[in-house]
Amino acid sequence: MGMGITAVKLTALGRPQLLLQLSEVIMRARQYMTEVVGGEGAVLAHHLKPDDFMKKFEEAHIKDAAPVQKFLQKIQSDKEGVIHLFPWSGILDENYELSETFQVPDMKTGKMVRLMSQLTSKEEEMFRNMIRRLNNIVTVADKLDVRIMIDAEQTYFQPAISRLTLEMMRKYNTKKAVVFNTYQTYLQEAFNEVKTDLEQAERQNFYFGAKLVRGAYIEQERARAAAMGYPDPTNPTYEATTESYHKTLMECLRRMKQYKDKGEDPKKIGIMVASHNEDTVRFAIEKMKEIGISPEDKVICFGQLLGMCDYITFPLGQSGYSAYKYIPYGPVKEVLPYLSRRAQENRGILTKIKKEKRLLLSEITRRFVRGKIFYKPKGNYTPV
Ligand SMILES: Cc1cc2nc3c(=O)[nH]c(=O)nc-3n(C[C@H](O)[C@H](O)[C@H](O)COP(=O)(O)OP(=O)(O)OC[C@H]3O[C@@H](n4cnc5c(N)ncnc54)[C@H](O)[C@@H]3O)c2cc1C
Repeated sequence: MGMGITAVKLTALGRPQLLLQLSEVIMRARQYMTEVVGGEGAVLAHHLKPDDFMKKFEEAHIKDAAPVQKFLQKIQSDKEGVIHLFPWSGILDENYELSETFQVPDMKTGKMVRLMSQLTSKEEEMFRNMIRRLNNIVTVADKLDVRIMIDAEQTYFQPAISRLTLEMMRKYNTKKAVVFNTYQTYLQEAFNEVKTDLEQAERQNFYFGAKLVRGAYIEQERARAAAMGYPDPTNPTYEATTESYHKTLMECLRRMKQYKDKGEDPKKIGIMVASHNEDTVRFAIEKMKEIGISPEDKVICFGQLLGMCDYITFPLGQSGYSAYKYIPYGPVKEVLPYLSRRAQENRGILTKIKKEKRLLLSEITRRFVRGKIFYKPKGNYTPV
């Protein structure tokens, strides 16, 4: 994989409210799909042809209306079916108008209706600013051979973040994986989402980058679902999350291996195993061995937060695996809540810190007893 990694929070690049509105549009577009042609889930996962829409509009006697014809023309598809109802690929264009784009034909009247309430010109400008910042960051990163990992947030932001990130992958990941999306495996839909995105990368021939995490907002997700009366989007148990993590990772490894066997660039898929869980790290290493992916292939790397679980990161690095420490950076008022959230949401981390302290203490004692206070261990780690 390349030199460094930078993680970016989209919620910090622009007004978070806009990501929320955009997420709602995506959910409404999915509902619209279900209403018009049946099925559920992501638009892409339907494997429908634009003709299927045509038939439905015909049955509803709205097919010949001019706006309906225009809508049909804009639907993007490939040999396997519909990809987008809207010209999403334009969303990274800095002149893209959000509220003009997301309109669908009403099945009764044939008139176009907005999926998003009209934004003010100020809001449209804020959105374009966010896109400009994002484009700038990735362009510079690409030049410097740094990868950009887009963090995953709460589910009410996530459809927009994932959508934007996928468009970024399509735009920038043409020769290597520069942009990585983050998938939270505590979500019941995680596996399907990764699978859909992997398929999309394969169909449209771009490099796929993913950071796999368990997910940081479990309590908040559950509380919100309960308060607002929708089904809890997270897995029912910790074990189910672990299973979902391992299954998702396996799917990525399996496809990497497929590329490798076909003689294609195995780097078409790049994964960061972002976890403090020793069993998950061990699982990843075992499966890599089993499948025949070596650390030198540089298609898998590991990530832990700075100050946490060095006993996992350092041995990984010393054995030739790419291992990274995540360093939170930003204004104190934003970084402190981030760190306290990590500690609160993961009481388990406190036991891991205890383990770390215990290990450090025993190492200090060992060095003291053996007169090796200034001992500097040398691994055969070459930074990549
Ligand atoms: C490098 C790095 C980058 C990260 N980036 C992001 C990011 O972009 N977005 C994000 O959301 N998080 C991110 N995280 C945090 C991550 O999602 C986890 O919160 C954290 O790493 C703890 O999970 P674990 O696998 O390390 O450890 P573990 O202690 O094994 O797992 C704890 C996690 O398990 C899940 N869990 C706990 N109890 C239950 C339960 N009862 N039912 C179902 N699931 C349960 C929760 O996700 C919890 O956080 C990042 C972490 C790292 C190390």
